[in-house]
Amino acid sequence: MLPPYTVDGQNLAVGSSIGIAVAPTHGTDSSSLLRHADLARLSAKQGGRKYFVYSGEESDKTAHRLALAGDLRSAIPENQIALHYQPKIGMGDDAVCGVEVLSRWNHPEHGMVPPDTFIPIAEQTGFIDPLTRWLLEEAMAQHKTWRSAGYHIPVAVNISAITLHNSHFPEVVAEILTRLDVSATELVLEITESAIMSDVAQAARTVNALTDMGVQFSIDDFGTGYTSFSYIGKLPIREIKVDKSFVFNMLTVNEDAVIVRTIVEMGKILGVNVVAEGVEDEETWHALNALGCTCCQGYFFGKPMSVVDFDAWLEKAEWPVRAEPRIISTPRSPARLRSPAKPGRRLKRLPTTFVVKLLGRIGDRREARRCAVRL
Ligand code: C2E
Ligand code: CA
Ligand code: CA
Repeated sequence: MLPPYTVDGQNLAVGSSIGIAVAPTHGTDSSSLLRHADLARLSAKQGGRKYFVYSGEESDKTAHRLALAGDLRSAIPENQIALHYQPKIGMGDDAVCGVEVLSRWNHPEHGMVPPDTFIPIAEQTGFIDPLTRWLLEEAMAQHKTWRSAGYHIPVAVNISAITLHNSHFPEVVAEILTRLDVSATELVLEITESAIMSDVAQAARTVNALTDMGVQFSIDDFGTGYTSFSYIGKLPIREIKVDKSFVFNMLTVNEDAVIVRTIVEMGKILGVNVVAEGVEDEETWHALNALGCTCCQGYFFGKPMSVVDFDAWLEKAEWPVRAEPRIISTPRSPARLRSPAKPGRRLKRLPTTFVVKLLGRIGDRREARRCAVRL
């Protein structure tokens, strides 16, 4: 791999994917050969390979993705992308402590395209930054609308690794917040462990710059990756979200219960809020409450809803909403991470070693079960 180019302060890694179609096996005219070569190129890109020879077998799926990629750019101007909002409920007062924005693409031909499908396409086609900018604007405008209706609802937006590593992203956020006159403390950005770990130094620069403005950070899908947990002690992270795959069966599968409990304990030790996602029933909610989880999110409280449905959900007032912000303590001021810490020295910074050891092995459930004996 060639080293990345630095353009305008941004590291650009240039790669190539080659698609091959051979005449007459894969077509006898130029247009079908080019189309099949293009499909093969997309297969190579998706599979992380340098080249791919066209094979009719995967063409349907790839052709569908190629067509979606072409349609995605017009999706915003044609009002096909909608923001859906899922409530987060705080423990203690059982009040709404925020919402997460989950985007939906209502394709005119294919119907509802899930974000798990179109977000990776947006990432691959360079559309993720403009999409995220637009989502942030819409989300902050919605926050203001709720505020003037007497509801104080901080809004969380999911941020892809590509956007997190864009050195201009903090300026983009600052511009939106200033233009819409929204306090940065009302915005939560959900990022994943893998996004941080793919370029720790750049992630630290972005997170630090935005935290200095008042924006809050949440680590999404926590516990699903094999990563060093040391960054949590070094980055100004406000909350971690326990992945729903652990929450779904925590009442019946001991390993999952141990993982959830350990993450909650770690949150307490490090002084970060712990949000459990995927709460689908009352029993799980009570169990998480007993563990000392800060906040819950899941179908039990409400599915992701269009703004119309969310407003109706608010009106029902089953879960109250504050009119004013909660008093928020200043985020911890961890030692700033300017460059990745040396391997081997990382975990020493964390105070409770058995928790750290267990977390380091969360990806391996058998190990988690073995370690559970020590809790
Ligand atoms: P995520 O950020 O982990 O979001 C949580 C996912 O779990 C959402 O799926 C949500 O609908 C679902 N969920 C929440 N509570 C429950 C529950 O109780 N039970 C079950 N079965 N599912 C629950 P969704 O909306 O399909 O989003 C999937 C993923 O797509 C998100 O995972 C996020 O990574 C990504 N995504 C969605 N919207 C955006 C976006 O605007 N930008 C970016 N970059 N990614 C997005
Ligand atoms: Ca999320
Ligand atoms: Ca998640």
